[in-house]
Amino acid sequence: MKTVQFTEHGSREVIEYADRPQPTPTANELKIEVKAAALNHLDIWTRRGMPGLDLEMPHVPGSDAAGVVVEVGENVSRFDLGDHVAVSAGVSCGHCEFCRDGEESMCVRYQIIGEHRPGVHSEYTTVHEDNLVPVPDHVDWEVAGSASLVFQTAWRMLVTRAALSPTDSVLVLGASGGVGHAAVQIADHVGGEVYATASSEEKLGYAADLGADHGIDYTERDYADEIRERTGKRGVDVVVDHIAGESWSDSLASLARGGKLVTCGATAGGQPHTDVNRIFWNQLSVLGSTMATPGEVDDVLSLVWDGTFEPKTREVVPMSEAARAHEKLENREGFGKVVLKPDSEL
Ligand code: ZN
Repeated sequence: MKTVQFTEHGSREVIEYADRPQPTPTANELKIEVKAAALNHLDIWTRRGMPGLDLEMPHVPGSDAAGVVVEVGENVSRFDLGDHVAVSAGVSCGHCEFCRDGEESMCVRYQIIGEHRPGVHSEYTTVHEDNLVPVPDHVDWEVAGSASLVFQTAWRMLVTRAALSPTDSVLVLGASGGVGHAAVQIADHVGGEVYATASSEEKLGYAADLGADHGIDYTERDYADEIRERTGKRGVDVVVDHIAGESWSDSLASLARGGKLVTCGATAGGQPHTDVNRIFWNQLSVLGSTMATPGEVDDVLSLVWDGTFEPKTREVVPMSEAARAHEKLENREGFGKVVLKPDSEL
């Protein structure tokens, strides 16, 4: 079978499309014939390498995939041959104080499939049954293979961490990315007015289709000024930030008194200039969020499977051209998810 892999960290040139033996599931695993497998920014970071990340090489990247069960380990109880399944990439120990509290994504031994352990950008893969969710047969493979990571991330950020209420206004930064476009949909479904930033009018048009009430082209205007102006100087109740870097101060400046900034990443830099005076005087909350609990995953994916939320496909790329898929994500071209499909499926 064919798999995407790399044997050293680096630029896109390290990505190989290699032959490997078919994997065999252990007692608690299932073997999946992959039908669609989305990319996430995490795949870029993992490929480039991060401090403290020590991977066994070659490493197969990929945290999202969906497919058909073709082999079942002897201890598996939740799935049968032929079932449609999607990967939920968070791996928790089940025993630490946070796991015992039902806060699996705070697990002290937390890992993510594709980042800390072998991923699923492969024609076939084996996955522990705890990391699979059932997918109804009517759901398209592209949807099934691209929803899990970004929708669970955005759901926990807004619904659990920021405790979004129907009257809360929300600003979503970078609405054209995976987490951003999921956050726009969830904010529209659960909260009040939704503001979105993106780098072009075309991307803002897509964000409006998904439920953004207001679009701000951040290449044209300072979005904090724009938010102040459009809210009568009040600001918004919640900012969804996965960018940090130079936007961090503007995100704080966009918040109303008592507002909440919730962050799940720092694509533009993790050590931003900050404004402590504004945080205490305006009584702001800065909330971190990572992945989600299994219960949150079930909640949000049920709303994807019934069509309430919809991951948008930026482009479907043959698995053999995974390097080009990474390039599309790195260059921030387009809107939504970049999805790999095995060449035999195209
Ligand atoms: Zn744990």
